[in-house]
Amino acid sequence: MKVKKQLEGLSPYKPGKPIEEVKEEFGLKNVIKLASNENPFGCSPSVKGAIEGVLDKLAIYPDGYAAIIRRDVANHIEVKETELIFGNGSDEVIQILCRALLEEGTNTVCAVPSFPQYKHNAVIEGAEVREVLLQDGIHDLEAMLEQIDENTKIVWVCNPNNPSGTYVNETEFKRFLAKVPKDVLVVSDEAYYEYVVADDYPHTLPLLDEYENLMVLRTFSKAYGLASLRIGYGVANERLIAKIDPAREPFNTTMLAQVAATAALSDQDFIENCKSKNRDGLEQFYQFCDEMNLPYYPSQGNFILIDCLRPGNDVFNHLLKCGFIVRSGEALGFPTFIRITIGSFEQNEAIINELTNYLS
Ligand SMILES: *Cc1c(COP(=O)(O)O)cnc(C)c1O
Repeated sequence: MKVKKQLEGLSPYKPGKPIEEVKEEFGLKNVIKLASNENPFGCSPSVKGAIEGVLDKLAIYPDGYAAIIRRDVANHIEVKETELIFGNGSDEVIQILCRALLEEGTNTVCAVPSFPQYKHNAVIEGAEVREVLLQDGIHDLEAMLEQIDENTKIVWVCNPNNPSGTYVNETEFKRFLAKVPKDVLVVSDEAYYEYVVADDYPHTLPLLDEYENLMVLRTFSKAYGLASLRIGYGVANERLIAKIDPAREPFNTTMLAQVAATAALSDQDFIENCKSKNRDGLEQFYQFCDEMNLPYYPSQGNFILIDCLRPGNDVFNHLLKCGFIVRSGEALGFPTFIRITIGSFEQNEAIINELTNYLS
């Protein structure tokens, strides 16, 4: 069997190791996973009831238009319902965009290291990928502009950037957007939007009226704590949404995901609380890094990239033996770093204690 030639060099996404696997492999009772930027506090308690309420409807196809969550998201972020596209996670919106816009002979521009799915999907579509190195951990927007030519279809701005946690500010983003040709789509991937505290973080939604070539991505997988259910969305001008919508599968978000997202969205107290605990958690790690003289990137997300000044895999493997799953920077483009998801106070304290022992 011969598959598309683009698939030959690709490997499937390597997720953080599952907890059960690590327990078995190392004979551990307790394992803490701080690897995939999931919410350590779970999701809003209202979600469980919402899911239970539809369990007798599993034989019925979901609403392909996702009307109820569409109405609620539109109200919540103050856009029109027709300005939204829902995906099986924002990962799927990324895939839909690549499917709709990229093909052989086109190219796409993204930062590196950044979220790997932009490149992955672009390669499958046969497009050329132009990667621009981060500058001090931040998107080099000037260099990204220089990579744009008449065949460029999409430019990706991961903001805050995964894995560095750094962000592009409002002034920089607006200046960039004004310079990008109008027929090139700019994607602002805001998967960690709810955790952001920087005052000068861009307000992208008000820019959608002026820029028909802008799409904002958000997700229920991170702060909303619904990663297992797979639901996220894109926001853009309604004409653009209508054009890409045929590239979406008819029933791409499940009923469980839709009702869960609706319940989660209506509990903004939960989100505020998680945001505040995340800040406290980041402060625990900043203090640890400062005491240990370890460089790190201040983060706007729910994760921190720490330079351990030695091979990231060594630190990763040591932590794994001790029952902590993190991400090694070696797989993320930062060979001497590890990326840790901010956990609960106790989880952070436990991993910091282990790291202090190991690195001293
Ligand atoms: C986690 C993440 C996503 C994907 O989230 P979904 O679970 O597919 O909604 C998208 N972009 C970035 C930068 C992420 O970190």
